[in-house]
Amino acid sequence: MPELPEVEVTRRGLAPQLAGRKISGVAVRESRLRWPVSREVRRLAGRTVRAVSRRGKYLLLDCGDGHLILHLGMSGSLRLLPPGTPAQKHDHFDLVLGDRMLRLRDPRRFGAVLWTSAAPDAHPLLAGLGVEPLSPQLAPAWLHALTRGCRMPLKQFLMDARRIVGVGNIYASESLFRAGIHPRKRAQRVSREDCVKLAKAIKQTLRDAIRAGGSSLRDYVGADGVLGDFQSRTWVYAREGEPCRRCGCAIKRIVQSGRSSFFCPSCQR
Ligand SMILES: [Zn+2]
Repeated sequence: MPELPEVEVTRRGLAPQLAGRKISGVAVRESRLRWPVSREVRRLAGRTVRAVSRRGKYLLLDCGDGHLILHLGMSGSLRLLPPGTPAQKHDHFDLVLGDRMLRLRDPRRFGAVLWTSAAPDAHPLLAGLGVEPLSPQLAPAWLHALTRGCRMPLKQFLMDARRIVGVGNIYASESLFRAGIHPRKRAQRVSREDCVKLAKAIKQTLRDAIRAGGSSLRDYVGADGVLGDFQSRTWVYAREGEPCRRCGCAIKRIVQSGRSSFFCPSCQR
């Protein structure tokens, strides 16, 4: 499933290719995605894409009088192709911009193609999202304040998108390792010092993943490839029984809320 780093890599790849270009055509071959494709989407021709931004895992194409909201769902990917390229089975949506075409392929149809003429942050899907982990909002003092009175394990706390967006399972395990904190530690028990380490660890982990994806990005813009590159050099994720890259101790796996957590019993207390 595409995570925040993959979506950010996609955004970085798309922004210079789309910004400033006029939409010359739209094709909706399948409107039954996670939510029905907005009717307005079919009438986008003539508008100019001003900017490509991201909120959580949503890509936002600013079209002046509104935003096109794209989500890759479980299996979606976006590609830039020459217009007229024959559509394959799961190619549900095209946005043509003169000499280039943005195409959404989404076999499982959990993605989204929506339109909003209001401020994107007011859209029901975006309004409840927590802070952006790479923004200055994710600061140690904020983290400390938010964890007070919160009894849930820190791993689950980090993965709750209503607090922080985009820290998926891999990135939560990796961030906790870098911060030297046990995934089962209760959120309310983390110290100010822990919060300094944790805020830094989350940002470093996500930046590393984005960098891993950025290096593989060319004309193909999509969710594939990023994770593979990042996953091959994780500190703890999917490394049960293997030696810790820092201390040599065997990495352990536990299950929290149905998801695997990986940690080093010696480095993470
Ligand atoms: Zn260790």
